[in-house]
Amino acid sequence: MIAEVYPNIFKNEIVLPRNPLKAINSYIITSENRNLIIDTGFNTATCQAQLMSGLEELTIALNKTDLFITHMHTDHSGLAPILKKHGVQAIYFSQLDGDLFNNISRKGNFVQTIQTHNKIYNLTSNNPFGKDFGDVQIEPLEFIPLSEGNEIVIGDYCFEVVDIPGHSPGHIGLYERKHRLFFCGDHILDEITPNISFWGFGQDILATYLNSLQKVYEYEINYLFTGHRKVLREHRKRIIELFDHHEKRLKEVLTILKDSAKTVGEVAPHMHWDIGNLRWDDFPNSQKWFASGEALSHLEHLFHTGLVGRSDRNGMFFYGII
Ligand SMILES: [Zn+2]
Ligand SMILES: [Zn+2]
Repeated sequence: MIAEVYPNIFKNEIVLPRNPLKAINSYIITSENRNLIIDTGFNTATCQAQLMSGLEELTIALNKTDLFITHMHTDHSGLAPILKKHGVQAIYFSQLDGDLFNNISRKGNFVQTIQTHNKIYNLTSNNPFGKDFGDVQIEPLEFIPLSEGNEIVIGDYCFEVVDIPGHSPGHIGLYERKHRLFFCGDHILDEITPNISFWGFGQDILATYLNSLQKVYEYEINYLFTGHRKVLREHRKRIIELFDHHEKRLKEVLTILKDSAKTVGEVAPHMHWDIGNLRWDDFPNSQKWFASGEALSHLEHLFHTGLVGRSDRNGMFFYGII
């Protein structure tokens, strides 16, 4: 379903069957000489049909069109190689997320990443995502790396790239200063809280995310074009809610650790998750995976800020209040 949400800016809401995200917002910005697509949908036949029908409805020439990918998650990037095959010109990614996309896209690496994380999370499914998340790409994707301050001009609009890491390590957004428009991918979402996951023990990704929230808070924004759900008008109100959410989460984790040191596999099932009324054991594998990553990013934040200790017992990481 395609709708003009601002002059020459169209939102293509691509439905994701059987996925709690419900839909992903792909945006198309048109002008006489050049067009820009922002994000794509999964590499599945259903997403591809919806993406393409939106592009056809606008009758834009793909050989005058570029693609900007906010971050490497496959609901945003999965169809990039297909669009390339159909004639789309430049593909923009951050260096970090473009590399992650190409790395994870190699089948062996994908399986290895799952196995490494499974061990830490104490999960077992070798394919937590299933077919609904689309195929993985084998060929590396050629992309143009963008970072803070780079510009993309489409008609009257001049978009500045803004680094907003956290939801993914190299998440980027686009800001249009004159019209106060911000395309933020999954950095800020209405109704649902962006998933903050685990990206390695060397970094405090939740702190990175909170810094990026503070950064966007300072921007003057009339329309915040998000990766899922509704376009937002009051970004500051939503950012304060997200800060509160993570504050509560951190307190919840500290309460769970009150009596004894625990692994992420022991913490995650005791946290509150908004997934219907399901018990942890009945969660779909993909949701267990995301929930475990979310739990671990909070544990790691508590560790990096000195509130809990972390000990490695034969490859199992235990977190305990100091
Ligand atoms: Zn995402
Ligand atoms: Zn997403």
